Amino acid sequence: MHELSLARSLIDLVDEYCEQEKVSHVSRINIRLGELSAMSRALYFCFGTVAAGSSCEGAQLHIDEIPLTVFCRHCDEVKHPNGRYSFRCSDCGMPTPEIVTGREMELISIEVGKTAGGPGFCGGKPVSRERNAQTRQES
Ligand SMILES: [Zn+2]
Repeated sequence: MHELSLARSLIDLVDEYCEQEKVSHVSRINIRLGELSAMSRALYFCFGTVAAGSSCEGAQLHIDEIPLTVFCRHCDEVKHPNGRYSFRCSDCGMPTPEIVTGREMELISIEVGKTAGGPGFCGGKPVSRERNAQTRQES
């Protein structure tokens, strides 16, 4: 369920962009996805299905996974926790509930073209404004 709604919100963002820029088809979408969401694979696999019929149909999805980092108040520094589900500082062992990175889903750039990799390929096109589609964590 989760990855489907994530795929939809991503496609909505791309659709919105395509409408503004008068782009009819997208060949590649580059996103950043936090490690904590643990959805890279699921998103990758469901993307094609969700994209059918949208401007993203047949587009390649490239996911850049962002590692999880937390802020340790005790050390006053950004740290990598020991495990994905135990938010403790790797140095002092204090609980670190403040997540710095690892939860985000960001649309980085969109590549447009008539067909993926075909003669109409225009190369990378940066998205004009960075948008965050925050994934709601069920907690
Ligand atoms: Zn610490």
